[in-house]
Amino acid sequence: MSDLSKQASMVCGTCSQPLNRFLPMDADGAFTGEVEYRHRSDETDHEPVPQPAAEHFAADLDLACDFCNATDPVWSYRAPGIGSLAFDGDDQVVHEDDFGDDWAACRTCAHLIERGMRRRLLDRAVAAFGDPALRPGLQALHAAFFLQKRGKRRRLG
Ligand SMILES: [Zn+2]
Ligand SMILES: [Zn+2]
Repeated sequence: MSDLSKQASMVCGTCSQPLNRFLPMDADGAFTGEVEYRHRSDETDHEPVPQPAAEHFAADLDLACDFCNATDPVWSYRAPGIGSLAFDGDDQVVHEDDFGDDWAACRTCAHLIERGMRRRLLDRAVAAFGDPALRPGLQALHAAFFLQKRGKRRRLG
């Protein structure tokens, strides 16, 4: 894997939301070398304006729980190296989505994580995203998270 994790994480200059990084691939499944940033939620009315998170004051950052999208995450977990692949209708990889090293969790999700209540965590995430079709993808993502989770959680803010 390429060493994406060393790149600064980006936030949107317009709404201060953290942005996900996409690595588009060509038809042969090779990375195009481009990097694209997108909002984590589709419910935005503007194009992302990527800016390095380090240029924002922490208090201005509009962080969201990486599990349920709650806007009040209080814990940060380190789980490096997780990405997901998106496929088109012909099962061709169209992009890779890199989630960065640090995962924010709200109080409730952190509680479920600490207790290893994965089923409840997954139910909560699926409900938060409002689309049962996302369940397999979220389940795989959570499984990767538990596998990659390193060290102790850290208090945010
Ligand atoms: Zn924005
Ligand atoms: Zn949460």
